[in-house]
Amino acid sequence: MTDQTKPQPKLAIQVIPVTPFQQNTSLLWHTETMEGVFIDPGGEVDKLMGAAEHFGVKIVEVWLTHGHLDHAGGATEVAERAGCKIIGPHKDDQWLLDDIEAQWKKYGVEGSRNCVPDQYLNDGDTLTLSGETFHVLHTPGHTPGHVVIYHEEGGIAFVGDVLFRGSIGRTDFPRGNHQQLIDSITKKLWPLGNHMQFVPGHNEMSTFGQERRDNGFVADSVLGVV
Ligand SMILES: [Zn+2]
Ligand SMILES: [Zn+2]
Repeated sequence: MTDQTKPQPKLAIQVIPVTPFQQNTSLLWHTETMEGVFIDPGGEVDKLMGAAEHFGVKIVEVWLTHGHLDHAGGATEVAERAGCKIIGPHKDDQWLLDDIEAQWKKYGVEGSRNCVPDQYLNDGDTLTLSGETFHVLHTPGHTPGHVVIYHEEGGIAFVGDVLFRGSIGRTDFPRGNHQQLIDSITKKLWPLGNHMQFVPGHNEMSTFGQERRDNGFVADSVLGVV
C-alpha cells in the first residue's frame, strides 16, 4: 500500500494497486464517521476488504470511473460483501461492464464478475460521502462512458485512465477517441485548477499543474496554449 494522503482534514485516502495491471483502487473515507467508498475496485477483493477492515472503514458505496476490467472487475463482489450499491460510470460504458468476465478469461484470471451499476452517472451529478460532496464530470475518449469524480475543497480528483503522470489514457481500444480525450482533459479537468491533485488509474499521483507544465501529450507547450 502506498500514497496515504489527507486531501483535507475529514477525508483520508489509501491507494491500493490491484490486479496484474496494478490498477489504483482508492479506499476513500470520512475520518469522523469512518464511512468509506472504494473507487474502482478492479479485483483482489480479499485484499481490499482486508484494507477496509484494517483502517476500520465501513464501506457504504462503490464508485466506478469506467467499465474496464481492471477497474470494475471486483465491484460486484465488493458490493455484495459490503451490502452496498455500485454507482457509475456513465451508461455508455455498460457494454464494457457486460464483457468483464470474458475479458479476464483471456488473461487467465477467474473469479471476476460482470457488473450492472445501481445508478449511472452523468456530467454535473454529485455524490455524497458522510455529508461531503463530490462532483462528477463525463470525460469520454479512453472509453465513451468514462467519468471523473472530484472533491473541490479537498483539491483531489479521481481520474481513472483519462490522465496519468506524464501520459494520457490509451485511445486505441474499441470506441476510444483521441480528440475526445484531449478535449476531456483540457476542457473538463484543467478548469478545476493547477492545484488539483489527482489519483490516476495506474502509477503515481500528480497535479493538473504539473501535467500542464511537462506532460508530453497535454502540456500547454505541446498543445500550443500560450
Ligand atoms: Zn481503462
Ligand atoms: Zn486502467
